Amino acid sequence: MKIALIAHDKKKDEIIQLAKNYKETLSNHELYATGTTGTLIMGETALPIQRMKSGPLGGDQQIGAMLANGDLDLIIFLRDPLTAQPHEPDVSALLRLCDVQKIPLATNSSSATIMLEALKSGMFFQ
Ligand code: PGA
Repeated sequence: MKIALIAHDKKKDEIIQLAKNYKETLSNHELYATGTTGTLIMGETALPIQRMKSGPLGGDQQIGAMLANGDLDLIIFLRDPLTAQPHEPDVSALLRLCDVQKIPLATNSSSATIMLEALKSGMFFQ
């Protein structure tokens, strides 16, 4: 499966922890991420990740383009609901496209954990 990993700055530690906890599961899939998120996860886990531009510089839109083309199967996007984001329109557009395409989307670490557990158990399939 093609999986995108994104986290706002205050959620970077949480997504790194998730990637560490599910490293073996994630290693069986094709991983994509926005720039900074991808760099940090690669540094901490050595998982191979195809990185887009940083989110505020268009990375969310690049992930969105993949979604629109049917090229992503699952998205983990740990959003920071307490900090204003300069690229909020891009964030909203990405979340909307997930619903348009009916792509599973986790926006916090609890739902991401449930998704990754399902992935680990083989519950998700294309
Ligand atoms: P980043 O982008 O991984 O480059 O920090 C994430 C975002 O803010 O959308």
